[in-house]
Amino acid sequence: MRKTSITLQGIGVSPGIAIGKAQQLNLGLTPIPHYTLLGDEAVQEECERFEAAVAKAEKSLEVIKEELDPALQDHVHLLEVHQMILRDRLIFDETLKLIREKKYNALWALKRSLLKAHELFRSIDDEYIRGRVADVDAAGELILRNLAGQDHDLRNEIKERAIVVARDLSPADTAQLQLERTLGLVTDMGGRTSHTSIIARSLNIPSVVGAEVVTRFVDTGDILIVDGTTGRIVVNPTDDEIRHYLQRQEDEENYLKEIKRKAHLPAVTQDGVAITVEANIEMLEEVVAAKDNGAEGIGLYRTEFFFMNRTDVPDEETLFGEYRELAELMAPHQVTMRTLDLGAEKLAVSFPRHQESNPALGLRSIRLCLHYRDLFKSQLRAILRAGAATKNLRLMFPLVSGVGELLQAKAVLKEAKEELSRERMAFHEDMPLGVMIEVPSAVAVADLLAREVDFFSIGTNDLIQYSLAIDRVNENVAYLYEPLHPAVLRFIRQTVRAGHAAGIPVGICGEMAGEPSYVPVLLGLELDSLSMNPQAIPRVKNLICRSRARGNQKFVNRLLKIPTAQEISTLLQDVLMKRFPEEFRILEPGLPTSKALQRQGMLKSLENIPS
Ligand code: PEP
Ligand code: MG
Repeated sequence: MRKTSITLQGIGVSPGIAIGKAQQLNLGLTPIPHYTLLGDEAVQEECERFEAAVAKAEKSLEVIKEELDPALQDHVHLLEVHQMILRDRLIFDETLKLIREKKYNALWALKRSLLKAHELFRSIDDEYIRGRVADVDAAGELILRNLAGQDHDLRNEIKERAIVVARDLSPADTAQLQLERTLGLVTDMGGRTSHTSIIARSLNIPSVVGAEVVTRFVDTGDILIVDGTTGRIVVNPTDDEIRHYLQRQEDEENYLKEIKRKAHLPAVTQDGVAITVEANIEMLEEVVAAKDNGAEGIGLYRTEFFFMNRTDVPDEETLFGEYRELAELMAPHQVTMRTLDLGAEKLAVSFPRHQESNPALGLRSIRLCLHYRDLFKSQLRAILRAGAATKNLRLMFPLVSGVGELLQAKAVLKEAKEELSRERMAFHEDMPLGVMIEVPSAVAVADLLAREVDFFSIGTNDLIQYSLAIDRVNENVAYLYEPLHPAVLRFIRQTVRAGHAAGIPVGICGEMAGEPSYVPVLLGLELDSLSMNPQAIPRVKNLICRSRARGNQKFVNRLLKIPTAQEISTLLQDVLMKRFPEEFRILEPGLPTSKALQRQGMLKSLENIPS
C-alpha cells in the first residue's frame, strides 16, 4: 500500500531541489548502559578503554582529513576543532574523573561529561552556539561509537544515490559523504550557521536542517523531496507533487544557472545607479563562496566567530595571521572587519561570562570591548597590521549607542596606532573607520556620529530587535519581528540621509539586505551598499539590474505614508508580482510555474543587464 504524503518544514540552508530515496543514518543513537565498576582493576581497565577510544577517534579524524574531497580542503580546520574537543578538559579529564571517582562505566561517564558541557551552552538561545554544541556532540559521538563498538564508515553505509536523513550530522560525517551518492541532506537538528550547513553549501548539496522530527517520519527507502530553498520536505509525495517539484527543479536550476553567470557583473540599475553588493562571512573558508557568487567585497566579517570556534583566546599574532590571509585572499576588494561582537547570545568558551538578567541589553559588543581594553586593543592592532600591505581592510565598531561610546573606542584605536608606531610595526594608518547603526539612539544621533566616521553600516537584525522591542531569537514574538515596520523604514531613511548629508556612504549588512523581495525598498531608500550571505548575491544583483532607482524612490515615498507593516507588505507583494513575475513564481513554493513565461521573462531580464 502506498504511504500517505507528509510535508514537513525545516530550515533551507543549501538551495536546490533533490528528489530521491531516503537513506536513514542512525548516528547519534548509541545505546548507553549504566553500571558501577567493581574494584580498582576494573576502574583502571575502563580508563584505558576510554583512552583507547579517544585515540581511535583521533586517528579516524586524521584519516578523514587525509582522504578529504579536494572541494572540502577548506574545512580541514573543522576536523581539527573536533580533534581538539576530544582532548578538551571538559570531556577528556571530566570523563576520567567520573570513572575514577564515581566508578561509572566509560560510556555513562562520557555521556555525563557531554551533558555537563551542554549545560554550559544550554542557557544560550543562539543558532551559532547551538552549532558549536553540535561540534561537542559530534566529537563525543565518535568516542561513544568506539566504546560501544559501533564505529561506522559512512562510505560503506550509503550503497546507492540517496537523500541522507539523520538526527544530526557532524562536519566529519558530512565530509565523509560521497558527493556522487548524496542527492540531498536532511537533519532533525542544526541551524543556518552550523558547520554541517556550511559544508553542505560548499558541496552544493540541497539541504534542510532543523526539521526536528524528520527522522521519526522517514524510513530508508521512502521517497523524499527536499527543497533547500524553502526548507520544505515532502515524505512519500504523490505523483502530482513529484511532477510539480520536477518542474520546479528544472526551472530553478536553469534560473539560478543563468543569474549566477551574470553575478560577476556590477549591480547597476537601469538608470545607472551602482550598488556595491558584498558578502557577510563568519569564517575564512566562506571567501570561496563569496567570490563564486559575485561578491564585490566582504561587507561584514563577524570576527567573533573565530573566538567562538576555539577553546583559548587567540593572541595578536594568531589574529594577525588570520586577518592578513583574509585581506590577501580578497585583495583588491575591501573587507569590513567588524570588531568583536561577543556577548548576549554570542559567547566564546574561553571568554569571561557575566551573569546578567537581560544580556541583550547588557555588557555586549563594543561595551564588552571597552570593558576588556587589552583584548580589544590586541584585536585592533592585529587588524591595523593585517591591512598594512594590501590596504583593503576597513574597521567597523558594532552596537555603538552614541558619540561618547564611539569616542572611547576611537581613543583605544589611537592608542593602538601609537603603540604600533613606537614599536616600528607596519600598519595601515588611514584605515577607514565605520560604525554599525543598530541601536535606535544611534539613529537619533546619526548626524553627530557621521562626523566621526567614514561610513555607516546598518545592522537591521539588531536595529529591528531594539526598535520594536522584539527578541530576535524568541519564537514567541517572532510574528512581531517586522523588517517592513514603518518605524524600521523611517530609521533606515533617517540614517541614510544623515550619512549622505555628511558625505559618507551608508549600507546594510543585516539579513534584510539579502532578501530579494526587499530590493525595491532598499533601492528606494538610497542605500549605497548591501552585504548578505553569499548565496543570496546572484538573486539580489539580478533584481537590482532589472530595476530603476528613481522609480523606487517614488515607490518608497508612497510606502512611507502607509501606517502598518502588513499593508506595506501587501503593496510590495503586488508590485513584485507585477514587475518580476517569473522570479517570484519560480522561487516561491506552491505557485505553479509556466516554463514559457519563465523562459520569456528570463531572456528579457538578461537582455536588460548591462554588460
Ligand atoms: C545586525 O545586527 O544586523 C548584524 C549584521 O549583526 P549581527 O547579526 O552579527 O548581530
Ligand atoms: Mg548586530
